Amino acid sequence: MDQKDKALTPKLVKKLWLAFILLILLMGTSYIFITGYYANKYNQATIQQVNANVANHVIQEKFANASPFLEDGSVNKPLFGDLMHDMMAVNRSIEVYLLDDVGEILYSVVLDHSDNAPAKSVTLEPIKKFIENKGNSYIEGDDPRNPGEQKIFSAAPYEVDSRKGYVYVILASAEFQHISNSLLGSYFKQLGVGATLLTMFFTAIIGLLSIWFLTKNLRLITGTVRRFQEGDLEARIENPEDSDIEVFAHSFNEMADTIVDNMEKMKSVDLLRRELIANVSHDLRTPLAILKGYIETLQIKKDTLSEVETDEYLQITHDNVDKLSNLINQLFEYSKLEAEQVTPVKEPFSITELSHDLIAKFNVLAQKKEIKLELENPKENCMVFADVSLVERALQNLIENAIKYTNPHGLVTLSLNKIGKNIEINLTDNGAGIPLNEQPFIFDRYKQVNKSAKKQGYGLGLAIVKKIMDLHDTTITVLSKPKEGSSFVFNLPAYQF
Ligand code: ADP
Repeated sequence: MDQKDKALTPKLVKKLWLAFILLILLMGTSYIFITGYYANKYNQATIQQVNANVANHVIQEKFANASPFLEDGSVNKPLFGDLMHDMMAVNRSIEVYLLDDVGEILYSVVLDHSDNAPAKSVTLEPIKKFIENKGNSYIEGDDPRNPGEQKIFSAAPYEVDSRKGYVYVILASAEFQHISNSLLGSYFKQLGVGATLLTMFFTAIIGLLSIWFLTKNLRLITGTVRRFQEGDLEARIENPEDSDIEVFAHSFNEMADTIVDNMEKMKSVDLLRRELIANVSHDLRTPLAILKGYIETLQIKKDTLSEVETDEYLQITHDNVDKLSNLINQLFEYSKLEAEQVTPVKEPFSITELSHDLIAKFNVLAQKKEIKLELENPKENCMVFADVSLVERALQNLIENAIKYTNPHGLVTLSLNKIGKNIEINLTDNGAGIPLNEQPFIFDRYKQVNKSAKKQGYGLGLAIVKKIMDLHDTTITVLSKPKEGSSFVFNLPAYQF
């Protein structure tokens, strides 16, 4: 993991470098080719423009005094021999051709002695265009010595003895081209090497700076991630919105927050569990000790005990077994709810009917304590959408508590009221009430160890009620005044027909 992290930046740097080098080579080669191509064009265009009138001069100077044709119609070779010498003296790079009016080569004056079989004719189109533009534009024409190739030229029309045609002068002869190419080649080799080295030098400097700059944020992020990994839970990427990889920076910060939150939650759940186990062991120990004591007494004194005493001891044993099984059941129920193993099965049901049933069920217990247990608005049928058995369990716990903490001749009232889209369920008693400082903790009793408050129970009843409320996405609130009584209120969604 650590090595992977360490390798992250250099790998990226390597890739960036590779991209830079490829870019330099690509740019360098393109630069050389493009420059070479245009330099050559420029060179050719200059030569053509400078020598645009060469063909005209040939006509004016050579044809002024003598005809290029002899009387028998054949070409005047001495005239062209002369021409060749003149040309050679002035410019070795040219070749002169005498064309007829369809482009057939009648005669040529060429210095090159290559083995290529010369062409017999050339295309007239570029020649006509050249003459039309008065030699001002860059045009290439057929090279008779190298059929298929195009060369710059100069051309001029002639009309002698009613014969029409053109003097066609190739300006960059094969020899010229050869010299020019080898010169250009060597210049461009130098230029290419020089330009590439220079580009590489500057790109290396710019590349180093940019890579350093580009990976600055990445290094910061890697550093923060490593700090977090090494246990610094406060480590966060500062100003994530300024980061080049904003989404990553935000995600990391959010992930770190979630991890820290979960750790806190796990810590508090763990603490709660420890407290629960400690309290439960304490709660289990008392009835078990009582049970053990009475069973031992029954065993040792079974012959001396009167029947009434035996019955009394057995009743005490029975009550403690009840207590134990009650506690174990509650614990089992609570741990299932806490572990989120319970999924509410919501359905429409009449909370009024359920309340009637519960009142009837608990009336026996209430009557024993001479407590009046009643349902307000018993006629109105309120339907809710919830898990019937979970709601029943919650109401049972609340009613049990109300009866438990209300003095004889007291009053416990369950009321149902339709408020907006909800049914408000209110269980009020005029019993002992809850001390103000205990009220915030009654729903998670095992968090707050208050032994005096647990005299009459195990502190799991309301914790179970709260979990049931959580499963229904609702909350339960308590309003209580010591010695005056308590009201527990919660809402359930009303079911519309
Ligand atoms: P227990 O088993 O102790 O009754 P509960 O979770 O049901 O556990 O209740 C937690 C505590 O809240 C009780 O110990 C008691 O102090 C207080 N309490 C709950 N209901 C009432 C009530 N109706 N009147 C007064 N105190 C109550």
